[in-house]
Amino acid sequence: MTMDANADDDGTLNELENSENRQNNVEEDYSEENTDETSVSTESTFDLTLPATHSYLGHNLEELRGRTILDDGVYVNLPLLAKKSVMLFPGQTLPMTVFDAQTIDMIRTCIENDRTLGIVCLGYNKMVSIGTTAEIYECMYDPEQGFRLKAKGRQRFKILGVIIQGSDKITAQVQVLPEITLGPPFLDDRLTSLNHLRTHPRTEEEFKKQERVENLDAVVTPWPGWVYRQYDPLRLSLKIRQRLHFIESRGSSIPEEPADLSFWVAQNLVLDDNERIALLNYDCAISRLQREIKYLEEDKIFVCSNCDSYIGRQSHMFPMSKEGPQGTYCNSAGIIHETVTLYHAQGLTLSGSPPSLEYTWFPGYAWTIAMCSHCYVHMGWKFTAVQNNLKPKAFWGLTRKSFKSKKK
Ligand SMILES: [Zn+2]
Repeated sequence: MTMDANADDDGTLNELENSENRQNNVEEDYSEENTDETSVSTESTFDLTLPATHSYLGHNLEELRGRTILDDGVYVNLPLLAKKSVMLFPGQTLPMTVFDAQTIDMIRTCIENDRTLGIVCLGYNKMVSIGTTAEIYECMYDPEQGFRLKAKGRQRFKILGVIIQGSDKITAQVQVLPEITLGPPFLDDRLTSLNHLRTHPRTEEEFKKQERVENLDAVVTPWPGWVYRQYDPLRLSLKIRQRLHFIESRGSSIPEEPADLSFWVAQNLVLDDNERIALLNYDCAISRLQREIKYLEEDKIFVCSNCDSYIGRQSHMFPMSKEGPQGTYCNSAGIIHETVTLYHAQGLTLSGSPPSLEYTWFPGYAWTIAMCSHCYVHMGWKFTAVQNNLKPKAFWGLTRKSFKSKKK
């Protein structure tokens, strides 16, 4: 038994079949059920650190030691894992269960070397030429349960050439991309006479106070202070964190450091593959944060990828994991789902099967398969608490590829 309504590999066949019906024959109806936001309890007794441990993979995984950091700009050959709609960002955890002998062989060789492989997102017809290295930190092989492993996203790379051996075995020559870190703008042109007025602002008011000092600094440069401020990584981070307050207030830890934050947002927002690839292409957090602020400017609505039926909205996302509202989880058949947790969703129909605790990603919660009520495509799961004292009582976990965000 698997957690998928459509259990073919990565759901690819079903998606292709469905894409033929993608001409929407459903009238656009985004009417919302009357949900009183204040009535939704955000009280939680769930231990948010549990999902990030991916305990459904078992407790007997062997820990691998050491850390591999590749030099910026270096050329290396990497074993490549191309998955449909799975994209890894630096800092993100990737759990996997692998059954296919050739991939197991590839992963074994990888563990014997530097435990690093490349993850790229497989598009419809082509492989994207950018990816992220994944470093395996825990693994275990069992003939029945397959090769289970956990890996962490580390560094971005560009694919220069691909060597395909056999049906699945892919090695790529890649260049490791640099992460450019820039400090505050016009750092070198600062007036030393103003140094005693400089602080390390964290709040909006503190940033406002610093503006006066920056405006004086800017007098000796060709452009006014407000131009530079648009490129200040700390200011951009503050703006993003203010917009993500609804997630942070519910117990998720959002990174402070601009580069970490920019990758966290890219992973956790509901963005389609093209938008995520665009974010992965930037070498600097400033560009990523600027683009991400635009995504957060309005409360987007979520619709079914297949038929455009209304499912929910961005502000219905809430974290059921310390790592954020979107996490990558793997089912017992080895299919990886980037899963977004929402406290409210509509237009979904539950399968007739009773809730199951098998391989559950959220310990204490049983899952039931949920489909789009309009087109019956698999959307994700409803998770219901099995113990009375567990809060929230229920929530939705929707798989990212089944829905998309849209301007209202
Ligand atoms: Zn649908």
